Amino acid sequence: MRTATCACGQLSVEVEGEPELVAMCGCSYCRKRTGSIYGVGAYFNVDQISNIGGDSTAFKRGSDSGRTIEGNFCTTCGTTLYWTAEIWPDRRAIAIGCFEEQDIPKPGVAVFTENVHEWAAFPEGVTIYPGARPRS
Ligand SMILES: [Zn+2]
Ligand SMILES: [Zn+2]
Repeated sequence: MRTATCACGQLSVEVEGEPELVAMCGCSYCRKRTGSIYGVGAYFNVDQISNIGGDSTAFKRGSDSGRTIEGNFCTTCGTTLYWTAEIWPDRRAIAIGCFEEQDIPKPGVAVFTENVHEWAAFPEGVTIYPGARPRS
């Protein structure tokens, strides 16, 4: 069991088991959402997620892949704790920096890397895609 919380702590979520995918993403949503050069999200099936507590507001926008993405952010501090990609409606991505635990597996993919600063570094072994991850 792992717990992720927003910056002020009023919004939280618990997950069970391991993420299906951990992804670094340099899309415009992830960059604007985090204010950083990329975001890192751990994708869990909705069945693995429980005890979403606190108040959040949903914000939906178009993604760089032409679909939509909906983020849920804390109504007090503004941290986006989790989001849903239209392409993966039965998963939630949780911002990995929000986890209390530091044992989230390292990312398997980095996507939309063409948008990030040229000095950005990626962990060894990560599969890098300049744009969206090809659908398998
Ligand atoms: Zn908060
Ligand atoms: Zn993104």
